[in-house]
Amino acid sequence: MLHKNFKNIDKVVFGRGSFSMLEDILEPHRKENDEFFVFVVDEYFKGKELPKKIPLKDNDLLIFENVDHHEPTTEQIDALRDKILDEKGVPAGIVGIGGGSIMDIAKAVALMVTNEGSSTLYQGLNLIKKPGVYHLGIPTISGTGAECSSTAVLTGPVKKLGLKCEWTVFNQVILDPELIASVPDDWWFNTGMDTFIHCIESENGILNNAFSLAYAEQALKLCYDVYLNEGSGRSAENDDKLMVASLMGGLSLSYSEVGVCHALSYGLSKILDYRHCYANCVAFQHLDDIYKNGVKEFKAMVAKHNIQLPKNLAAGWDDETITKMAHVSYNLPHMWHHTFGENWKEKVSIDDIKDLFKRM
Ligand code: NAD
Ligand code: ZN
Repeated sequence: MLHKNFKNIDKVVFGRGSFSMLEDILEPHRKENDEFFVFVVDEYFKGKELPKKIPLKDNDLLIFENVDHHEPTTEQIDALRDKILDEKGVPAGIVGIGGGSIMDIAKAVALMVTNEGSSTLYQGLNLIKKPGVYHLGIPTISGTGAECSSTAVLTGPVKKLGLKCEWTVFNQVILDPELIASVPDDWWFNTGMDTFIHCIESENGILNNAFSLAYAEQALKLCYDVYLNEGSGRSAENDDKLMVASLMGGLSLSYSEVGVCHALSYGLSKILDYRHCYANCVAFQHLDDIYKNGVKEFKAMVAKHNIQLPKNLAAGWDDETITKMAHVSYNLPHMWHHTFGENWKEKVSIDDIKDLFKRM
């Protein structure tokens, strides 16, 4: 078995108010390249207090990106890269302030300002040719683990696949739990459940090991506090916990793997445009034969927070749609391999996967 040898984030700061360290953190990097920073900020924050606290210098570029309608695309990244290079040149660095979408945009743009051509050329593992510029992530929603992963997931004309390599990983992450207080309840639940599912899937498969398990166990404990135990729900203390859970859940899956739920979720995202975390929730509730305890706990959390998940979706899908989704899922062999072992192909067929979609 190949042991996973991951590059971690160079530096991480955690704590309420740690956003205010941004200026000092950026200072030593300001002299690099054409000596300006690009701040890519979730458009949700436009006109709010947060942008006023960004340590913007004269030459810097502040870009608000809307992430409401679709997940990041290769076209969007190429356009942003061209705009930055045309207007200003090569930045000293990129700062992403937002959820998984913005963090992936920041990671991808940091790589694409030094790599020629369209980002579609680099979708896959280790295809990026040159290191990008310095990049710093500041999550404003917790759950996806995008703050620590070595991929920037992009939807292209042909594939939904990440720019995946060591250079993708952030140089610096600022974890300030104050920033996630304003997340709407449904997103708070869905993104948190992404972390929960990362842990359950990481644990339940052949790549699970003492290292990934330690992260998963701790992240699950935090998830139970945030969503299940007495005292669960929205509070400052729980925001602190959720932010740490997201990071640890991400690290757990990096050193293990995700499983069936994520394989199905990719099918829902690619073919029906479902958002990642929501798609996971839609799929996970039906996987009790694979993740028995996890699904039981998930359902308890759904009930506790009065979350309405859709029922009988499959009734509205024709066979062609279900078949397409099943093929997207089947083409994620590492996830099936992790869940069902070396000879997973003897255990899982396209028809079996179609049946999983038909449960939804
Ligand atoms: P998101 O970034 O797509 O944002 C979701 C919504 O929340 C948006 O409407 C946004 O404007 C809003 N929002 C963000 N912060 C807010 C705040 N503090 N207050 C109020 N509203 C806020 O959400 P996400 O679920 O974190 O990210 C999903 C993306 O992450 C997908 O594109 C997916 O592909 C990607 N992803 C990446 C990885 C990775 O390892 N790179 C892993 C999983 C998912
Ligand atoms: Zn996920």
